[in-house]
Amino acid sequence: MASGAQIKRRLTILGSTGSIGTNTLDVVERLGGRERFDIAALTGNGNIPLLAEQARRVGAELAVTADEHRYGELKSALEGSGIEVAAGRSGLIEAAERDAGWVMAAIVGNAGLQPTLAAARRGADIALANKECLVSAGSLFIEAVAKGGGRLLPVDSEHNAIFQVLENDQRHAVERIILTASGGPFRTKSLEEMRHVTADIARAHPNWSMGLKISIDSASMFNKALEMIEARHLFRLRPDQIEVIVHPQSVIHSMVGYSDGSVLAQLGCPDMRTAIGYALSYPKRCELPIERLDFARLARLDFEAPDEARFPALKLARRAMQAGGIQGAVLNGAKETALEAFIKGRIGFLAMAEIVERVMDRLSDLPAAVTMDDVFAADEKARQTAAGLIH
Ligand code: NAD
Ligand code: MG
Repeated sequence: MASGAQIKRRLTILGSTGSIGTNTLDVVERLGGRERFDIAALTGNGNIPLLAEQARRVGAELAVTADEHRYGELKSALEGSGIEVAAGRSGLIEAAERDAGWVMAAIVGNAGLQPTLAAARRGADIALANKECLVSAGSLFIEAVAKGGGRLLPVDSEHNAIFQVLENDQRHAVERIILTASGGPFRTKSLEEMRHVTADIARAHPNWSMGLKISIDSASMFNKALEMIEARHLFRLRPDQIEVIVHPQSVIHSMVGYSDGSVLAQLGCPDMRTAIGYALSYPKRCELPIERLDFARLARLDFEAPDEARFPALKLARRAMQAGGIQGAVLNGAKETALEAFIKGRIGFLAMAEIVERVMDRLSDLPAAVTMDDVFAADEKARQTAAGLIH
């Protein structure tokens, strides 16, 4: 819609109350806020005060809580504002289907798949933070975006880095991509030390400030495992073209290696707003007043090979990629169930990978997904199988 000389962009943020969601709103405000952007919809889950405050602040058209029991609370928090209110799964779909040209997909976990798909199918540009969409649904998700006609803009910092340095007319010359991993808080811990850690210890990431689940996934390196599968689908690579290197400073966000021996990297401070700003202003670059890299102060960048014995998640990702088919959905469904159990203190830290491996063993002959329903069924089966292993 026109406002003065400037065309306003309409956007929606799925998962606005989370770490990526609040960073997205911060970027939106730094890039002009209500002067430049119309917010079609914001969605959250349990944090109703924050969702209501955000919706009022940015003048959202619609605010949705995923928790249908909190509808009344959200409705009264927004009373008199003129902001529409909805709740539950249908509310999330309604938010995704509003006519916004750009949608930030920042709901955590497989719960983000259906709303993100709804936005993709109607042709919105998808700024994809939610990696589970690609891990579970893989090429079906890519096809849905392509069919809808919108662009897929990776926000996960590693994939955003690759997206920035991938020369589209030279894709045939890409030999490998190198995903960097901080190594998380347990990079130097022994298996015995990791056996007894709690969720509170595991959530303390050395470099990045993120939501609870992704922080714990970083500690177990399941986050990197998901990212390997995500990269495979996003950039259409063979499993053997995907490498992981531990880089504790998290300054190089990932790299692409070409057939002439060149390696191109994207570097920056560990701040998700760079990737979000890139996706929001793509294909142009915006001006963001965030910290700059100071190389003299940095002095050095370190690298080490990942240890798959202490971090078996990486091995499981390779296995899922090699098996193909529906194994990404199986790995993710089992991992989400095991992660919930770890957060609740019902299983130990190392048991997460053990459970995922056992679920993958049991469901190794599930047929490849033909439709999204097959993906949801595999996810559900993996969850049930994992739950059966957690006593
Ligand atoms: P978060 O936990 O901080 O926020 C999650 C958001 O999803 C919140 O708005 C929450 O209300 C909503 N939500 C939670 N459960 C829901 C449900 N069942 N239904 C609908 N909405 C629900 O998570 P985050 O760290 O912002 O991560 C969001 C996504 O982005 C994840 O998929 C994560 O892997 C990915 N990601 C995050 C980062 C980061 O720096 N935080 C970096 C890369 C990728
Ligand atoms: Mg990442």
